[in-house]
Amino acid sequence: MERHILVVLPHPDDEAFSASGTLAMHLSQGSEVTYACLTLGEMGRNMGIPPFANRVTLPVIRKQELEASCRAIGIRDLRLLGFHDKMIEFEDKAKLDGRIEELIKELNPSLVLTFHPTLSVHPDHEACGAAVIRTIGRMPADRRPIVHCMAFAKNHEQEIGKPDIVNDVTSFLKQKMASIQSHKSQFQAAELVGNKKLSDPEILTRFGTERFWTYRF
Ligand SMILES: [Zn+2]
Repeated sequence: MERHILVVLPHPDDEAFSASGTLAMHLSQGSEVTYACLTLGEMGRNMGIPPFANRVTLPVIRKQELEASCRAIGIRDLRLLGFHDKMIEFEDKAKLDGRIEELIKELNPSLVLTFHPTLSVHPDHEACGAAVIRTIGRMPADRRPIVHCMAFAKNHEQEIGKPDIVNDVTSFLKQKMASIQSHKSQFQAAELVGNKKLSDPEILTRFGTERFWTYRF
């Protein structure tokens, strides 16, 4: 069992598809979870269908959606780090790493979840993962938490092989779908599951597994 999991991701909704089932599973086993979200995703282009957000209200709405997603998963400790959306790769590295280091010192997590530093498609995702890896890489090897990365790039399995962590989250699909559906400005529930049940084989195949790669320092 993990004592404390620190999740470091750049955007509200990054947790929903790839990690919410895993986090709900760990919470059910008694682990503590802290989710540090770097930005409010305020540069996003999705405003809901029909649109209910605009450029001004989007950050407030996405913050509320993220809070709802955390409630759905069972996460009680959400930290909003206040960096700028679509700017993570240009952030001052010392500042970014410093915030992550503070969290690690405060929480002493046994596991850190983040994006893979080079195989996560979006520059914010990769810059976020790279900051986590730099920060933890500077720690003495015997004091480092385990790092599990999420990877999506087309070529990721050629680069890093099959995931070594494959979690069956079918028992936590209720929490996972509620997490996804919390992000109403970003995803339309109807287009995801239509009128299918969570127990529908297609839903189980699409959402029932979450994959992670243990980072080798
Ligand atoms: Zn993202």
